[in-house]
Amino acid sequence: MYFDGYTESMTPTRSSRSGPVRRGGLATLEGFRFELSGGRLALDFINTLDERPSEHARELLPAVDALVEWAGQAGLLTPEHRQALRHAATQNPTAARKALGRARSARETLFALMREVTRSGRPAPADLLALNGLVAQAAAWRRLHATRGGFTWTWHDEAWTSFDFPLWAVAWDAAELLTSDEVSNIRVCAAEACDWLFMDRSKNHGRRWCDMKVCGNREKARRFRNASR
Ligand SMILES: [Zn+2]
Repeated sequence: MYFDGYTESMTPTRSSRSGPVRRGGLATLEGFRFELSGGRLALDFINTLDERPSEHARELLPAVDALVEWAGQAGLLTPEHRQALRHAATQNPTAARKALGRARSARETLFALMREVTRSGRPAPADLLALNGLVAQAAAWRRLHATRGGFTWTWHDEAWTSFDFPLWAVAWDAAELLTSDEVSNIRVCAAEACDWLFMDRSKNHGRRWCDMKVCGNREKARRFRNASR
């Protein structure tokens, strides 16, 4: 299983004062549990590269199995879908690997785009173009579904069979977030070497850290050390 060998490093070391603060998930008896705390699907996906700005960024999606597992925990794939996709990956490893590469590459594009949205509100045209390309791919698999009271968007019954499905869902969510009132609540964690994205839904919209217990305390300790020098 993909999380073999990651067990040790996935365990949060929150007592560490100066070393890297482990984020991103927790090893459990049932397997790796991703930390889905961004408040939006798209942000949780972007957060699958931990400690992005540091020299020891941690890849939480080292293999396509991890991508499938993440999508399952994020509510995109049923256990049966996950199993079928894992099997498909063993049958067609090249296609699976390429899809993983596309997902990781798009993740960095989306990170740059979202960060710029929080800074200037104007992402690089190339990043927006890339997102538009993904949205167009995703749209080909979107379907209108009649409900009792009206209509709702859903996915084509077989959309999940593509290794690219998690990325389409992420791109669609990113587009919906960017066009919503919530766009002004996107934040990049203020802690050094974190760069996690999250939705600031606090009352005064003044939340600065992805997690007070991890980055908030670490930053306070760092400032205290600097101030007392
Ligand atoms: Zn943080």
